[in-house]
Amino acid sequence: MNASAANALVSNALDKACEGRRLTPEEGEALLVFAPFLELGSAADAARARKHPEGIVTYIIDRNVNYTNVCVSNCTFCAFSRKPGHEESYVLTDEELLAKVRETVELGGTGVLLQGGHNPDLPFSFYEGMLKLLRREFPNVHLHCFSPPEIVFFSALYKMTVSQVISRLKDAGLMSIPGGGAEILSDRVRAEMAPGKATVAQWLGVMEEAHKQGLRTTATMMFGSIEEPRDIIIHLEHLRQLQDRTHGFTAFIPWTYQHGDGLSLPSGRATGVDYLRLLALSRIYLDNFDNVQASWVTQGIKMGQVALHFGANDIGSVMIEENVVAAAGCRNQTNEAELRHVIAEAGFTPRKRRTLYEPA
Ligand code: SF4
Repeated sequence: MNASAANALVSNALDKACEGRRLTPEEGEALLVFAPFLELGSAADAARARKHPEGIVTYIIDRNVNYTNVCVSNCTFCAFSRKPGHEESYVLTDEELLAKVRETVELGGTGVLLQGGHNPDLPFSFYEGMLKLLRREFPNVHLHCFSPPEIVFFSALYKMTVSQVISRLKDAGLMSIPGGGAEILSDRVRAEMAPGKATVAQWLGVMEEAHKQGLRTTATMMFGSIEEPRDIIIHLEHLRQLQDRTHGFTAFIPWTYQHGDGLSLPSGRATGVDYLRLLALSRIYLDNFDNVQASWVTQGIKMGQVALHFGANDIGSVMIEENVVAAAGCRNQTNEAELRHVIAEAGFTPRKRRTLYEPA
């Protein structure tokens, strides 16, 4: 495409974005790559304001609990997992799990995000048992658990359909599903970064089945490695199409790949501007998503604050515990007072929420 054709495409796409009209994939890619930075941000801010005219920015207090780091999946970007039998491998005991959730509640937390590696040595009753235990001991804590690759892994290991796995976990207390493990929903990229885990079709299939069974889920993206702009658009298009069918996603949460020592997946070294461009494009492109979340965990609290003017209406979690990006050396921290302060300083009204975006 020559420069004048690209300029015309961008200009038309920005007009459509400002008027709240749906973008085509070609227009989405043009905005991501060529749109003037501040004009893109402004269009995303307008799209955010159309969905959230009251100027409220939400946050949650919850905890990521990683019940095991044992994993057989060999993702090339993962610094967290350990092979079965490794001296640093672990599986949380019931007492350790209860202690973590008790502390979360004492700190004002309302939910737990439970995720782990693909551990071949645990019975399915382990997962049902964790949910039942937490349901019984903490009936007011929201259980947001098991990303699609874990559910696909359970389905293969325990010889059940995805539908059966979700149904049994739901019966045990599962309340919603986190959108982790999406990375980039493009087969070309996935084959290189996560060849041993859920395919694009499987990731989407789990989400569609969960929505069918009445569970809400989130959607994520980890970018900034080997993907091209067209892969980003393929990912967003998959999400937008599924959301049109089910309306089951509560939020979209993009973050950047954290390249740690020893990881074989190369880093594209996404800059702050790259992050904000992607966030803004997501808000515009995903016109059927209510919530877009800023990632202070990977971007730092100051960039998280700026993200509120590039389409985000939620700043995520105080996150009492996080192990996965921390394993790659990313150790940003915050607390509720700081989150409220940066939201207010950005010109918005802070509001604490629960996992499904209802007021806390
Ligand atoms: S990202 Fe998840 S599935 Fe992949 S190696 Fe790490 S723990 Fe295992």
